[in-house]
Order: sequence, then structure tokens, then C-alpha cells
Amino acid sequence: MMGRSGFKSGCDMNCILNFTKHERVAILRKFANKSKDEIDNHLYSLIEKREKPKFTYHALKGEERHVVCRKAFISLHNTSTKAVYRLTKLLEKDQVPEDFRGKHGHQRSPRPQWVNDMMHHHMLYCVSLQDIGRHDFTDDAGVLVVNRMYQLFVDMSPWMEYDVSYYVYLRYFKRHFGGHYSTLDV
Ligand SMILES: [Zn+2]
Repeated sequence: MMGRSGFKSGCDMNCILNFTKHERVAILRKFANKSKDEIDNHLYSLIEKREKPKFTYHALKGEERHVVCRKAFISLHNTSTKAVYRLTKLLEKDQVPEDFRGKHGHQRSPRPQWVNDMMHHHMLYCVSLQDIGRHDFTDDAGVLVVNRMYQLFVDMSPWMEYDVSYYVYLRYFKRHFGGHYSTLDV
């Protein structure tokens, strides 16, 4: 069935119509020359675990994240129901997409120290904001949700998204801050 937008997405909420053709192309262009792993990590960072509905999905308009329905998410990213199902299952279990790079010997050059420094300072910034009550990165149970910090990180520095996947950010956080904070994403 064709939606109002003319795309076979099954979306009734005009999620896709909110994106111009140019913006839709820009979304797909992000995937050019990216590995499956990088694409997985990117998509994963755009899904958020919630209560009701269980997940929220986002698509980027330039640097802004916009909530879209699951059908629109699949259509806009030219991905599949199966791939998104797998990612939400991982998110449900607070796991991250596996990083295959090491296994196949295509290891990237080591992350530059300034990237680590940026992550580190952002994490300090987030926990400070949390401590002084300027921002809440915790869920209803008061448990820190690292993914929310990561969302802010990529919101503030979208160009970092491919250098620092959610997986990298989470691993770094657990290694350097994990002893002090109980996190949802353990
Ligand atoms: Zn929709």
C-alpha cells in the first residue's frame, strides 16, 4: 500500500513526508562506504529504549534527531524489519552490536588521544550536569542511561559519530567511570 508520501513505507503519520527528498538522500549518503558494523552502530544509536512505546526511532535531519515511527525508520535508512528487530533485541538486553572489525583483521588505526580526551571530557560534563541537577540522564529508577549521554555527545558533535560509535563510548565509560556509577547499559 502506498502511503500519503508515495512511499511504500506503511507509515500513516507523515513521518517520511517531514523529510524532503534532499534530506532523505542525505540520510542514505551517510551509509556510503560504511561497513555493516558501522551501519549497525549508527542505526543502533538512533534507537532509544523506552517504556511505552518500547522503543523510539530517530532519523537525522542534518544534525537534528527527529522521532519517526518504526516503519519510517526502516524506509528512511533502507534497512530491513529483520535488521531493526535484531538491534532492538540487543538494546532490550542492553547489549551493543558486535564489533567485527577486530575479528577480520581490518582494524582501524588506534583512536587518536584527542578523541579519547573528547569522550572523557564529555562524560565528566554529563556526570557534572547530573550531579548539579541540570540534566537527567537516568531512568525512572535513577539508574544512569549511558545511551542518553551518548545521544547528547553526538548531538553536540555529530561529526564524531563515526569515530565514536555508541559501543566505543559505552566501553570507554565502563572502563573509566564504571566503578562509580551504576548504569543501565552494563
Ligand atoms: Zn510514520
